[in-house]
Amino acid sequence: MLAPERVTQLAIPSVSSPRALAAILPHVARANDAIPLEILANGSLLVGVVDPTNEALLNALRVASHREVTPVAFALSEILGRLAASYPAREAAAVGGADSPEALFLAAIREGVRTHASDVTFEHRGDEGGQIVMLIDGGAHVWRDIDEETLLSLVRTGLNKAGVPGAHDERVGHRGRLTLGLEGRTVTLRLTSTPTFDGHMMLSMRLIMPYEALPHLEEIGMQKKMLDRYLRVLSRANGLIVNSGPPGQGKTTFTFASLQAIWRPHKIFRTVECPVEMRVPFLSQNSVEDGDEGDWTYAKAIAHLLAIPSHGAFFGEMRDPYTVSQAVRFALSGRPLFATTHGNTAPQVLFRLLHEGASRMNLAEVLLASISQRLVPQLCTRCRVASPGAGALAWMRAAVSCPSLHDTLDRAEIYVANPNGCDACLGGYRGRAPIFELLVGTDGVKRAILTATSAAEIAASDPDYEPLWVDAARMVLTGKTSPEAAADLVTLP
Ligand SMILES: [Zn+2]
Repeated sequence: MLAPERVTQLAIPSVSSPRALAAILPHVARANDAIPLEILANGSLLVGVVDPTNEALLNALRVASHREVTPVAFALSEILGRLAASYPAREAAAVGGADSPEALFLAAIREGVRTHASDVTFEHRGDEGGQIVMLIDGGAHVWRDIDEETLLSLVRTGLNKAGVPGAHDERVGHRGRLTLGLEGRTVTLRLTSTPTFDGHMMLSMRLIMPYEALPHLEEIGMQKKMLDRYLRVLSRANGLIVNSGPPGQGKTTFTFASLQAIWRPHKIFRTVECPVEMRVPFLSQNSVEDGDEGDWTYAKAIAHLLAIPSHGAFFGEMRDPYTVSQAVRFALSGRPLFATTHGNTAPQVLFRLLHEGASRMNLAEVLLASISQRLVPQLCTRCRVASPGAGALAWMRAAVSCPSLHDTLDRAEIYVANPNGCDACLGGYRGRAPIFELLVGTDGVKRAILTATSAAEIAASDPDYEPLWVDAARMVLTGKTSPEAAADLVTLP
């Protein structure tokens, strides 16, 4: 614990930061009469409590937040007021009340569809019962607290509806698929149940929505200069385009929009995805279910795709030397091959492909472009707060080092999120927008691929390549995202 005089030197924020609030689950904060305030520069969680010397309480908060905890003394009334203002009120679902498990199950899915959640999960939470959680734009939002009995009925309802064989065996996990008609729309759910360490069950459901409208490339939000460059690459459409980033960062949407831009009615584009998460009518989509390692494997699906005629293809994941070699082979035939892969930066991914057995010669021949992307939380323009702090300064300093940001820097408007949010947003953020880096297979890059001994050498061979942080800085300096949210996704030089 800090000495009292140190504590008084710390700035106590008048409202808690979203990162601090996200560090502790609402029911844990309420049960401990603790209000998370800020994540300090050393990574410790600044938290308001009645008794900063209560070591047992501090330990519980350390465990709950996975962080060191710096307590400050607050009056109980202040803590309760801030808790009420910081975490939205939720109603607990009563057992045997108006909500039958069936009705509550459907209400949860309906809420997931309404809020554009990617997943709806029924979580078990220690001794506290359970929660129905919506995963929205990558963040977890608790919709309802439930008790243990309701949690178990919900998990059983989902597995039974999906007709999962052997679902009554709760010592093992199950997978299943369920299609529901909800208010005139068809929603497909991919269910995964898991036994928890303490003998309970949780169920996670991925929502697969019917195709509505795939955005045009121009609408996705790539900045003009980079987009023009990418469109010139696409117009050649006879080689390999790799898109990398962690899962859930919009790679598939961007790749499908690229395929849409070059598709014509007389062309057949085939995909192998694991599994299909978005149904797109102009593509011939083939699915491999995760864990389907019995008869129909990812490698087999790729082999089948290569055996039948097509004008272009998409590999949902380049994950091993076999997939890499087949992707390069396909692209060598002069057809477009799009692939996504997990990876950090566009040059690093190329270096990894070499490691996974692609020959330098072949990769240099087929490479059209390597893209890396992330989705950055967008500030709500109705409630964002203009208060640039230390975080903003780091971005401005970095921007000084990059000539293409100087114009933006001159007109910089930096905002942070209002953690309380407003009617239009969740915690001050609304949706996510992509940031990109683009490395084009120019003659210089092709030459570098033949000889390079590091990813940095490949990066340096494309004079127009700018690392991901430059696009992130553009978003920060124009007030579209906060310095904190951007710093969570990219590293400044
Ligand atoms: Zn707002």
